[in-house]
Amino acid sequence: MNKIPCIICSRPDREAIDHAIARGQSLREVGNRFGIQHTAVFRHKRDHTPHEIATLGGAHKVQDRGTALARLESLYTTAEKLLKKALKNDTSVNGQVQVVKEVRSCLELIAKMTGELNERPQTVNLMLAPEWLSVRAALFEALIPYPNALEAVAGRLGALKDKPKELVR
Ligand SMILES: [Zn+2]
Repeated sequence: MNKIPCIICSRPDREAIDHAIARGQSLREVGNRFGIQHTAVFRHKRDHTPHEIATLGGAHKVQDRGTALARLESLYTTAEKLLKKALKNDTSVNGQVQVVKEVRSCLELIAKMTGELNERPQTVNLMLAPEWLSVRAALFEALIPYPNALEAVAGRLGALKDKPKELVR
């Protein structure tokens, strides 16, 4: 494993440091804020923070998803432990079913967040796609000197709009 012991993992404010990393602060910012060498922050981020936080760089939304996912996963671990307990002890069947439901809904949420569970195929309305709208605008603009053509094209496109074609990705 790592030859250099991680100074961050043993710190009492480790959670705050993980949060700062998860919020997308740079290694240097985190290091300065907590008085740690940024190389130590880098090693900790690479080796010890939850996978989602360490690998999903960029937008805050994505980072938030990472922390929510990490929390959900720890909730799932708890639910699983409860389930084992419920199955071992003389918990009523009803009680066991309750716990099974909790575990299942946790799993379901995790699968949704990680994209493992895709409930419906993504559909794209081509008529509303920004790429198409700009193509259409350019087309109309180019046809301005030719009013007859412009009218014909606009009419034809208007007819298409009434029954939008949907593409399944
Ligand atoms: Zn660490």
